[in-house]
Parts: sequence; C-alpha cells; structure tokens
Amino acid sequence: MALIVQKFGGTSVANTDNIKNVARRVKSEVEKGNQVVVVVSAMSGTTDQLIKWVNAVSSLNTKEEEAEHDVVVSSGEQVTSGLLALALRAIDVPAISMQAWQLPFYSDDMFRKARIEDIETGALTDALNKGLVVVVPGFQGITRSKRVTTLGRGGSDTSGVALAAALKAERCDIYTDVEGVYTSDPRVVTKARKLRKIAYEEMMEMASLGAKVLQLRSVEMAMKHKVRVQVLSSFSDKPGTLLVDEEEVMERRLITGVTYSRGEAQVTVTGIPDKPGIAAEIFGPLADAEINVDMIVQNISEASGNEKFTDMTFTVGKTDLDKALSSLKALKDKLKYRELITNDQVAKVSVVGVGMRSHAGLAQKMFKTLAEKGINIHVISTSEIKISVLISEEYLELALRALHTAYGLDEK
Ligand code: ADP
Ligand code: ASP
Ligand code: MG
Repeated sequence: MALIVQKFGGTSVANTDNIKNVARRVKSEVEKGNQVVVVVSAMSGTTDQLIKWVNAVSSLNTKEEEAEHDVVVSSGEQVTSGLLALALRAIDVPAISMQAWQLPFYSDDMFRKARIEDIETGALTDALNKGLVVVVPGFQGITRSKRVTTLGRGGSDTSGVALAAALKAERCDIYTDVEGVYTSDPRVVTKARKLRKIAYEEMMEMASLGAKVLQLRSVEMAMKHKVRVQVLSSFSDKPGTLLVDEEEVMERRLITGVTYSRGEAQVTVTGIPDKPGIAAEIFGPLADAEINVDMIVQNISEASGNEKFTDMTFTVGKTDLDKALSSLKALKDKLKYRELITNDQVAKVSVVGVGMRSHAGLAQKMFKTLAEKGINIHVISTSEIKISVLISEEYLELALRALHTAYGLDEK
C-alpha cells in the first residue's frame, strides 16, 4: 500500500460540480489500495475576494492586523476541505477534514507569507490507519502560540509538498487546470509544449521568474526532501510533468522555457552624484524597509562642472512601489537626486535553461529577437541559467511568442 498526496488547485475546486469531480479522482486512487491525503486550495477567486474585504476595512499597519488578515484569508480553504470530505462521504469514501490547528501544521509568525516549521503527523496517520482519507486545507498554518497563518499566494502547493515530505509519501500529485509544466504559459503562448520532465533547478528558476504553475517554495522543498512531484490536470487523464534531478532529463535542451511576470514596477532616480557608495545609500534603506530590489542598471554619467552625475534604474514588486517611493522621498536631502520617475506598465520576460552554463550566444539571440520586433529593453539582468529583460507591458505577448519561436520551443 502506498501513501499518495493529491493537491487540487482553485480551478479544480471552483464549484460543487468540480468538487464532486475531485472526489471521484480521489476515490479512484483509494480503489487502487492507496492511502490518500488530499490538500485543497480555496475555490478560484475566493482568496482574491477575501483579500479585498480585508483591504476595505484595514491598511494592515501592524503585525496584529496582519494576523487578522490571515484569519480571514485562510478561510477559503476551510470551506473546500469540508466540502470535499462531504463529497467523498457521499460516494462512500470515508473521509475527514483536518485543519492546520488540528494536525498541527506549524509555521513561523510571518503572517501573509509564513514559513513552515514542522508538521506533526501523528493524528493524521491515525486517521489514515483507520481507513480514512484525510483532507487538509492548503495555504494554512498555525504558530506555536496558536495564531492562524497563511503561506503566501499559491501556498497550497507548498502545503502539499511539505505534507508529502513529512509523511514520506510515495508521490505528490499537483492537480491544476493545465496538463503540466509547459515551455511557457500555455494560456498566452498557444504553441507552448508540455514537458514530460523538468529538473528541480529549472523549475525553481521558472517559478521564481513568474511561472505560477508551482509556488517557488514548493519546488525548493521538493528538491530538498526528494519528493516525487507530478504536475497534471484534474480535467483530463493525460500524463503530466515530473520533477526530477538534472541528470534524469533525457531530452537535452539548451533552453527550458520562457516566463514572464507582470508584478514589477520600474523606478529611476535621476541626477544623483556619481561617487563611491551611492548605490549603498539608495539600496540600504530599501533593504531596511524589506523591499526586494530585483533588476538594477546604472546609466553612464554626465559631467556638470567638476561633478559627475548619473541615473539609477531598478525594479521592485508593484505591491512595494509606494513603500519604496516613500523611502526614497525621505532620502531626497541626502541624495540630492533630481527626479524620481516610476513606470508600472512594465513586464519582465525571462529565458531559462541549464544549457546556458555551457553555451555562449543565447543572450544575444534574445536581444536580436526583441530588436527585430522593435521592442525596447529597459533593464537586463542575468544569472548562470537565465536572462531577464524588462520591457513595456504592451509588448509582453509579442515578446513571449517571438522568443518561444526563436529558441525553437514551438510545438511542432
Ligand atoms: P492552481 O489554482 O491549480 O494552483 P495556478 O493558477 O496557480 O493553478 O497555476 C496554473 C496556471 O499557471 C496555468 O493556468 C497557467 O496559466 C499558468 N502557467 C504559467 N506558466 C506556466 C507554465 N510554464 N506551464 C504551465 N502553466 C503555467
Ligand atoms: N488560495 C491561495 C491563493 O489563491 C493558495 C493557493 O491557491 O495555493 O493564493
Ligand atoms: Mg497555484
């Protein structure tokens, strides 16, 4: 008998008919003689609605207020866990829901983006051994001092993988609304190709650059604990994508995929003195305010009298933009910059592939392809296995499709 964790995302449990469909999938796994733990997301759209309600009554200035945010926002998963347990019982599968506090599923107290600390599996295993399917709400945690937490957007993936690791499950199947991991978002790039296998490293890079099919932390955790993760559709029976070690990816490829993120905003600080330490003066206070700066470019300097001046352009998350601007405005007297210019109509496009370690010319292909389409690049950043560029959001889809073709990724 094997123990399987099945995680179902928001679209898979979007309404009661879909929940009944999920119940049938769980039942067929049980009928193979397996023990099953199911992790569910909230119905699609629910978490967004809950966050809107919170924002309508509070601007969340304190940690106490953030804790209440999590009380509200975690509730969507409580609803679907109970509904799925009921739907399973309705088709004669004995099932019980167990909330994070009942396990307990411990996290730290970084509300809204809490990190998992420890999962107690005793109560869960007892239930499994009684022949029950256990349905656990994803995304939820509980602190040692019994406050409810949430694990960040998309966090149910991480709940699923963490449970699979804690229970030493045979597999963690992540059911979603596409058939697996593709070379690009299949909803934007229609020629995207489904990958049979993807290396943990590649998936990590894709997830961190915007491919929201898996939450980044779930991939990190799967790699660390060697969890066998499979991404597949809850609406079809086609084979999905398996996460594997790099050596196991049979099909050698230079580029794995093209990803995007609309979540960035560009900030330019103009007319700052070009002198040692200036970058630290700008980015130090941003780091202190826990603002993550992603891409950075410093323009060539211009001379004015005896002094040299420069412009610094960088990106921050759109949701951090206001906080970043108030930090920078507070520095106006010290930095003596000329102007602060912002642009949130931008998108980051990235090309990812472990082949970049050993092949030159892959960045050049990106720049040439974008130039041929007349797309201007605002900022560039690279790492060992990715190249990212910031462009105007209006050209995003054009850029994705052109790059997908240029790197030979299109479905034949
Ligand atoms: P769930 O609710 O099941 O967690 P998500 O919406 O979080 O689903 O993630 C699935 C979505 O991820 C897909 O509908 C797809 O649009 C998007 N996506 C982005 N990049 C990729 C990719 N490379 N492969 C597959 N899906 C992707
Ligand atoms: N419901 C949460 C969200 O929408 C968690 C998840 O679906 O993974 O982000
Ligand atoms: Mg998701």
